[in-house]
Amino acid sequence: MSDTNGSISCANLLDQAVAMLRALPFRRGRLRFPLDAEEIRMLFPGLEAEKPVAYWRPCGGLRHGMAATEVPRPGQERRTLCGELLNIVDASEIDWLAPTCETCWTAAIALRDAQEST
Ligand SMILES: [Zn+2]
Repeated sequence: MSDTNGSISCANLLDQAVAMLRALPFRRGRLRFPLDAEEIRMLFPGLEAEKPVAYWRPCGGLRHGMAATEVPRPGQERRTLCGELLNIVDASEIDWLAPTCETCWTAAIALRDAQEST
């Protein structure tokens, strides 16, 4: 294995990754994370994502959970598992360090147990 071959392989892999990303349906011109289920299926064909129990978003000093029916996007108003109505915003890295809402956590565990028993 020479350095030249190694760097060609890496460049090819990068080209493939860029081509795959460009093939994704972009919303408002750019890819946003987390990816939704449709984007994951396009990026990783054949890989069936495990259904999440809840999505978590920091707000007001706590990380709250919300139903996994749809990925929470900034600008949306979503009901948390503890019953609050949140305006979803772009959270900073610091916001994600907030402790988890105990009520949401308990509700998420109950949802997980309900999923596993079906
Ligand atoms: Zn909560």
